Amino acid sequence: MAVPAKQFQAFRGEEWLMRVWIDQDLCTGDGLCEEICPAVFTLLDDGLAYVKQGDTVLNEPGGSSQTATAAADLEDAVTEAAEECPGECIFIVAE
Ligand code: SF4
Repeated sequence: MAVPAKQFQAFRGEEWLMRVWIDQDLCTGDGLCEEICPAVFTLLDDGLAYVKQGDTVLNEPGGSSQTATAAADLEDAVTEAAEECPGECIFIVAE
């Protein structure tokens, strides 16, 4: 279920996982997400942001086909990044 970042709070609980992806077509490349949550977001040489799963960057091809699972202690930072993203291109999915 895709939910706006602000609504993810309502889905929190052991039965829900936060998954996150970026629509690179909308990314402005400002790097704000990486500043807020470098454990999940990274900016590559192509000037676009991608999500990471641990040390693995999910950039082949990125987009909605590659989602990262955010650890519980990163949910606040991921939510903040999605809310602050000027491209409005960070999407949170509750599973
Ligand atoms: S904050 Fe949004 S627009 Fe900026 S680099 Fe990250 S994903 Fe791209």
